[in-house]
Order: sequence, then C-alpha cells, then structure tokens
Amino acid sequence: MSLRHIATPGLPFAARGSTVLAMTTPLNNAIDSKRDAIIDLTRALIRIPTLNPPGENYREICEFLDRRLKAHGFETQLIRATGTPGDSAKYPRWNIVARRAGRHAGECVHFNSHTDVVEVGRGWSMDPFGGEEKDGKIYGRGACDMKGGLAASIIAAETFIETHPDFTGAIEISGTADEESGGYGGVAYLAEQGYFDPTRVQHVIIPEPLNKDRICLGHRGGWWAEIETKGEIAHGSMPFLGDCAVRHMGAVLNAFEDRLFPAMAARRTDMPVVPDGARQSTMNINSIHGGQPEQSDDFTGLPAHCVPDACRIVIDRRFLVEEPLDQVRDEVTALLEGLKSSRADFDYELTEINAVLPSMTDRNAPVVQTVARAIRDVMGKEAQYVASPGTYDQKHIDRIGKLKNCIAYGPGILELAHKPDEYIGIDDMLDSAKVMGAALETLLLPCNDVQRDRKT
Ligand SMILES: [Zn+2]
Repeated sequence: MSLRHIATPGLPFAARGSTVLAMTTPLNNAIDSKRDAIIDLTRALIRIPTLNPPGENYREICEFLDRRLKAHGFETQLIRATGTPGDSAKYPRWNIVARRAGRHAGECVHFNSHTDVVEVGRGWSMDPFGGEEKDGKIYGRGACDMKGGLAASIIAAETFIETHPDFTGAIEISGTADEESGGYGGVAYLAEQGYFDPTRVQHVIIPEPLNKDRICLGHRGGWWAEIETKGEIAHGSMPFLGDCAVRHMGAVLNAFEDRLFPAMAARRTDMPVVPDGARQSTMNINSIHGGQPEQSDDFTGLPAHCVPDACRIVIDRRFLVEEPLDQVRDEVTALLEGLKSSRADFDYELTEINAVLPSMTDRNAPVVQTVARAIRDVMGKEAQYVASPGTYDQKHIDRIGKLKNCIAYGPGILELAHKPDEYIGIDDMLDSAKVMGAALETLLLPCNDVQRDRKT
C-alpha cells in the first residue's frame, strides 16, 4: 500500500484511490487481545450511576477515570464547573481532562465523552446499572450513550501508546458532565476555560453512538421559545364580556399550520441529516396550557366557568445550517405581528428560552478524512457521512472553543440511546477502538512508521 499518511486538508477522499482491504496490524491485534479489558471497563463505567438530572456521582466517575488514566501515564485534572446550571454542593458538576504527551512535539488528538446518562424509565428486563453481559452485548443505562464509546476511546489510546511509545504530539481524553442537559457544566465550561483552544487541541473525536461506520459531521440548530396570548377573564356564560386567550392561540396555531409548517417543509438542507425526515426544518409544539390549571386525577369537583385570560405554548424549532438564527426568530415574530394587525384584541408575548446554532465540520477537514480512511482500513467499507437531528457537545467546541476540526464517531446504535434495555455490542466497541487507534497512527506517527505498520 502506498500513501498512508493523509492528514492533508483539502484533498478529497475519492482522490486517494478506492482499494478496500481490511488490515491486520500490530495495533489491531493488540486491541483484539483486550476484549476482556474493554468488557470490564464498560461494565465498571455503567455501574457508576451518573444520572442527569440531577447529576449524580460525577465526582465518583471522574475519580475512577483519574485512577485508570494515571496508571497509564496520563496527567489528569479534575475540574468543577462551579456556578453552572445545576451545580451545587450536593450535585457538583465535575469533569476530567487527561493528557498524555508523546516524546516529540506534534498535534493533539482529543477524545471527548460525556459521563452523564438519562433517567432509566420503564420497560427494562435487565438491571440498568448492573452492566450485565449477554450474547456479546453489555446492557445498562448509558451502555450505548455513551460509556461504550468512552471505553473504546480509552482502550484505543492506551493500546496505541503501548504499541507506539515514541509517538509525537499528545492524546487527551475528557469525561464531561451534563451533555444530556445542554453541556453547560461540561464541555461549554471547559471550552470557556480554553481547553478546546485550537492552539492546544487540533483534532476532536466525540465517541457518541452514531454507528461504527458513520462519521457525524455536525448537527442542526435549535431555538426554543414560549409564546403567550393575552385575554381577559369573565364569566363563562358571557364570554363576550371577556377575551378568550385560547381562541387567540388557536389563531396562532392556524397561522403555523397554514404558513410556517409548509414553508419549513419546503426547505431541504445539504447537511446529510439522518433520519431523512430531519433533512428539513422542523418544529415541535412542546406543550400548551390555557385557562385554569388541570386538577389532579382524584379531584371530583366541577370546573368553574371562566374565560381564560392567558394561554401559553412552548415551541421547539430545529433549524438548518442554511438558516440564520435571526431569520428563524423573525419568521415566527412576523406571523405574530401579522395577527396583531389583523385580528381584533390580539396581543402576545414571546420569550426566548434557549438558542443553539448548527455546527457542521467540512468533509475535507483532517479529522474527517483520517477517520474515513481508518474506517475503510479496519472494516473494509466506505464511511457514511451523517449529521445529527439533535444537538450534542460539538456546538460548544465549535462556537466557544472555535475549533472546527471536530466530529462524532463512536460505537453503538443511535436508535438505542435513551431506550429500555440499552446495550453496546462488544465487537462494535473493538472495531471502533481500532478505527480510533488507526486514526491516532495517521495523526501522531511519522509517515514511515505508519507505512511499516500497515503492510497488508
Ligand atoms: Zn450522548
């Protein structure tokens, strides 16, 4: 094989030939020999229940990772995101950044995994925090999203260092809090502190569960807002003496149906978003409340007769890299202003809850092309490029850290995330660890070493 060293921005993948050969390399063999180690590590991570909310056991999982990575020659820092949402004496937001420098100066490859998991929910047949192994799979909350990915990146890094002790540059592994609740006590905080400054980190791989042969280039944006329509309370038998806020909201929903939803459906993005339904702009109406509060199920009384004087909805608008955030806001505001001028007594209040911009890494970025080549070498197939319908921590690395050379790549089936009986396949973890290891070889070894080790 020729031309192994490909960390050249701007050179398209297709230009490098299309030989498809799964390779046996010393690194791949060494990773295969660590099957038991990757199982043990994944089980141990699952057994630390890092539920978010509220954010339990962040310190414990950081201390576990601290011991593990120090034993493999990493320098570690435990960093509390003091004062971020949810941070308290009871639920402190702890993060870990571990760094192992090579013998010579070079680029830094950073693997970032979130350590938090979502609530268990109903419908489990396995112990959600038992880390049980069955038929080549390890089960548990967070197995796929994303403790399996974290374990794969640790095994990849450790094995790479053992196989190539003379590597150049540096490897970093971070375990961060709160991705499931926006990442403000995790990656956003670290990015604000300079941990993702492009002068200290050059390549970022986030091992989220996107399937082992897919490279996730980024995600759509999100805009969340509350809209309240105003009315006037009166007796229900004489609604003409009041002003019904629910009817005003009905007019808002009609305007959405007639104009906003068709307009959004007509916008297709060039982002390779999966599943296909998310390749357009979308909006969910998250909730609606109007009039008197609902009574509990055991309340046996009858409702009082009142005209509702307020009605509120929360909207969850997901937008494309082609749509500026101002346009997303203005489009909704224009509909509401139109109602204000055309509909008698219509009044409203719009309150923005949160906004996240889309993120999209260039297909020709070095980390993308390096991992694409590694997928081909390890699995003998072409990588599929995708983008995520929802956001993940790449937004903070991109927008706060200003680091554009970032992807999500990791083992696990995306659709299993947050589901009952979530699991991670052991072979999938090993395959993706080999891909990560091969990417490290490309990025952190001199060209000659890579050519020598990759002879097929
Ligand atoms: Zn995740």
